[in-house]
Parts: sequence; C-alpha cells; structure tokens
Amino acid sequence: RKIVIAIDGYSACGKSTTAKLVASILGYKYIDTGAMYRAVTLYFLEHHISLTNPKEIARALEQIHVSFKVNTHNVSETYLNGLNVEKEIRKMKISNHVSQVSALKEVRTAMVEQQRRMGKERGVVMDGRDIGTVVFPNAELKLFMTADMMVRATRRQQELMEKGQLVELDKVIENIEQRDLLDTTRAESPLRKADDATVIDTTFVSIDEQVDEAVRLAVT
Ligand code: C5P
Repeated sequence: RKIVIAIDGYSACGKSTTAKLVASILGYKYIDTGAMYRAVTLYFLEHHISLTNPKEIARALEQIHVSFKVNTHNVSETYLNGLNVEKEIRKMKISNHVSQVSALKEVRTAMVEQQRRMGKERGVVMDGRDIGTVVFPNAELKLFMTADMMVRATRRQQELMEKGQLVELDKVIENIEQRDLLDTTRAESPLRKADDATVIDTTFVSIDEQVDEAVRLAVT
C-alpha cells in the first residue's frame, strides 16, 4: 500500500534532507514544493513581474512549467520551462524574494493544483509548508519539523557553502526569520502544523535518527 507522506515545517529544519532519504528508502517519489515556489520566483524576477498586477501574474503563471528530473547521481533537480535551474533557485537572491511571491493567491492555486497531480498516484514524499493542511489534508502520514534557530542557521550556512555560496551567519538568520514570519502570517494557507501531524524537533537529532523515525511511522 503506497501512501502520501507530507512533511511541513519552518525554513531550514531539514525537511528536504529527511524527505529525500525517506523517499529513497521507501522507493517513493520525492517532491520539493519549495523548489516550485523558488522556480516561480526566479521567473518573476527575470521577467520583472509586478506582484501587484493580477493580470501580469496570471499571464506569467500560464508561461511557467516546473518539473523535476533525476540526474546521473540519482538526485532530483528542478527544471523551469525545460531548463535546469537547480543551482539558481538556491541562491540568496531567490530566498530573499520567495516568501513574497508564494504569498500570492494566484501562485498558490497554480502550484497546489500541480502538486496534487504529482501526488495523485501516491507513493510520494512531499515537503513544504502547507502539504498536510492544504495540498494533501488526507495524507496518511504528516510530519511537522522544527529546530532551534542556531542549529537551523548553521546547517543552512554549511549547505550554502557546499554549493559554493559564502553567506554570513547573520544574513542566513535574517532570511530564515523573515521567511518564517511571512510564511506564518500570510492570508493564503499560512504555515501551520496540521492537527494530526507528528512533531519532529531536529535540534538534537541526527539525520539518520530523523529518517529512521519517519520510516518507522510510515510503515506502521
Ligand atoms: O522549502 P523552501 O525553504 O525551499 O521553500 C522556499 C519558500 O517557498 C518558503 O519560505 C515559502 O515561502 C514557500 N513555500 C510555500 N509553500 C510550500 C513550500 C514552500 O509557501 N508548500
């Protein structure tokens, strides 16, 4: 029996790392919904789309096609209109704009529709902010990840460094705090824990332990 696993939580709590590993252990598809909002943000910035012009937003969304492809190392990468944008969408420039773009109702409607289609066949691990509450409220397993701010920021800084981006810790913290604030207070499907989600605090827990716990919950 294949299920839907919804992983939500604050920025940089290890959602995607956990989701990827759980998906690979269970032989499930992994869908990074944050990457979809990041790709939309990249398009909006490149095309100077005004966030206050609904017509322009609607027209832009019609032009945007986000997809995922597994590379030769078996890692899922994000494509925007057929172009690999995996590296581009992880840059701080995108991180600093994505929460404004993803707060737009039109953007959410378009993404949620695609996400539901991607998860229709079940056997999917999806991570984001509103998966357990909005995209798949009937998901069989819902996890909500949190962690201490310093832990999150240093992990994210390390991750960025591995991608060749040197960012000061202060800047990383500022970005995470800003996104958490915008994501939890927006009018349209704000970030919140689903009532039936299991909370995983990753502050003192290793990746292996997180993944074991998630897999155990998935198979029981
Ligand atoms: O997951 P990640 O941190 O890459 O997500 C980037 C941003 O995309 C979040 O800060 C949030 O603004 C938005 N997002 C969202 N809903 C989701 C996933 C991400 O609004 N399901």
